[in-house]
Amino acid sequence: MTSPEFAPGQIAAQPTPDVDVLVVGAGITGIYQLYRAREAGYSVQMLEAGDGVGGTWYWNRYPGARFDSESYTYAYLFSKELFEEWEWQEHFAEQPEIERYLNHVVDRFDLRRHIRFDARVVSAEYDEASGRWTIKVSDGTELRARYLVAATGVLSVPYYPDVPGREDFRGESYHTGRWPVAPVDFSGKRVAVIGTGSSGVQVIPAIVSEVASLTVYQRTANWCTPLNNGPITPTEQAQLRADFEAICETLNTSASGFLHQPCDRTAFEDSQDERRVFFEKMWRSPGFSKLTSNYSDLLIDEAANAAWCEFVSEKIREVVDDPETAEKLIPKEHRFGEKRPPFVNGYFEAYNVPHVDLVSLEQTPIVRMTEHGIETAAGEREFDIVVWATGFDFGTGALARMGIRGRGGLALVDHWADGPKTFLGVQTTEFPNFFFPGGPHAAAGNNPRYNGDQVDFVMDLLLHARALGCDTIEVERAAEDKWTAMVDRWATRAPSFGEISYYFGSNIPGKPRKYLLNSAGRPKLFAEIRKVLESDYEAFRISRSAEPAPTGA
Ligand SMILES: Cc1cc2nc3c(=O)[nH]c(=O)nc-3n(C[C@H](O)[C@H](O)[C@H](O)COP(=O)(O)OP(=O)(O)OC[C@H]3O[C@@H](n4cnc5c(N)ncnc54)[C@H](O)[C@@H]3O)c2cc1C
Repeated sequence: MTSPEFAPGQIAAQPTPDVDVLVVGAGITGIYQLYRAREAGYSVQMLEAGDGVGGTWYWNRYPGARFDSESYTYAYLFSKELFEEWEWQEHFAEQPEIERYLNHVVDRFDLRRHIRFDARVVSAEYDEASGRWTIKVSDGTELRARYLVAATGVLSVPYYPDVPGREDFRGESYHTGRWPVAPVDFSGKRVAVIGTGSSGVQVIPAIVSEVASLTVYQRTANWCTPLNNGPITPTEQAQLRADFEAICETLNTSASGFLHQPCDRTAFEDSQDERRVFFEKMWRSPGFSKLTSNYSDLLIDEAANAAWCEFVSEKIREVVDDPETAEKLIPKEHRFGEKRPPFVNGYFEAYNVPHVDLVSLEQTPIVRMTEHGIETAAGEREFDIVVWATGFDFGTGALARMGIRGRGGLALVDHWADGPKTFLGVQTTEFPNFFFPGGPHAAAGNNPRYNGDQVDFVMDLLLHARALGCDTIEVERAAEDKWTAMVDRWATRAPSFGEISYYFGSNIPGKPRKYLLNSAGRPKLFAEIRKVLESDYEAFRISRSAEPAPTGA
């Protein structure tokens, strides 16, 4: 939808530091936001801290990094032509292909000229008099924008545990979430991997055949199940294209944003034998379907969850030769789905390779890093390379580091000192014209689908304000209070989510233990968005600022 006054190209070409919409972050959410705002006739600018497009898929280029979502369900759906012309090679594509795809999108829709790379936003302040945001960039430049959209991701700030002497280590050291562009040479090296979350369990089997030795430091075991990846055959490619409309219909409406069919039975409606057959089917099913297509009471009934966990434990014992190692790899302190379940390819098998060793940090915690390696309670081991697969400051990490200040100079970090307060995971009070699709309080599931819903909603708001001749949008406190209370209420529903998950910020010392997703999910998001539209945007205060709006706003 382009406003009559503007041809998008003309606006974007103006070399002015003032724009209608400034988007931060060139990941899958930001690129879509940029595209939609530009198509709607707004002048746009994107700032990205990294040197390239991709967000998660730019930074996480470690060996083995790949989708856990089916490639064609993660990709954009806004253009049938784009869907038809991009042939994903695998059901779960690897990082290089994903990065290529996102670069292709940016070039195909001529978005690159709106993006500044190597441009980290260090502060963003709202000026009440003009109703604009002033954004400072790490290179010293300054921009003014009517609308500020932070598409800065929930998993974009890598986290290092506070291990004494981390800087003392003289070998090579890498975090999976900040992997270098130049390939790392693992051949013949003594390697340590710290962490067995979703990234650690991908990197371990990917490097096992190259290294001289591999020592895995595990804080807690995770419920890993097979990804069950494979190439997409020509027949499947043709079918995907033929089914485009049906695929869109399912992905745009389903609770989790996947194509997986939900199961209509609870676990104990089946006999023990039937359950065994069903669990075998789940074990062989693709990716997240172990969660989305499993028995409907998997995350509600403790006994159903325990039955599945027992089945997975048996599988681990079958695969891993050494019984002691197998026991260490079976989670004891959480249920399936309580933490984000990783999906693997050859992970458990890696422990049967003679040069692989598993160290449980519960039994022998890390004492410190040394010049040559890692010292635990059991002594020191020397390494050439240490891989930190230790996760992220989830949910609020990037927003907290952007120096965002709203009305009266209020800092976002103070406003959210006890945890984020949002409406629909899109806006917060006291910060007019500031939006954060894909940030805290977003739904869980296939990320681009619900982040895309949020971007679409941001655009609904902008266009609605423009139609009214207004330019200032701020959510009402009552709406924010209600949504935030709903998020907190759903977070404690038994038994699926204990506070041990990073979804609660529990991996970061000192972070408030607040649920950072919306576990009521996409249906709740849809329902609330419908209410907003039907009530003529009652949840928002939409007004006109003193300073005339830029032409696009
Ligand atoms: C290894 C890994 C695998 C994953 N696999 C899946 C999967 O299979 N399916 C799924 O649904 N989700 C997956 N995720 C979640 C993933 O983060 C989302 O799918 C998606 O990439 C989020 O996109 P985004 O654009 O919202 O954020 P990101 O992709 O995180 O992009 C945010 C961008 O903002 C930039 N930025 C942040 N702060 C600033 C600043 N101050 N100034 C300038 N730029 C800034 C960052 O550099 C980054 O490029 C995975 C995450 C990881 C880490």
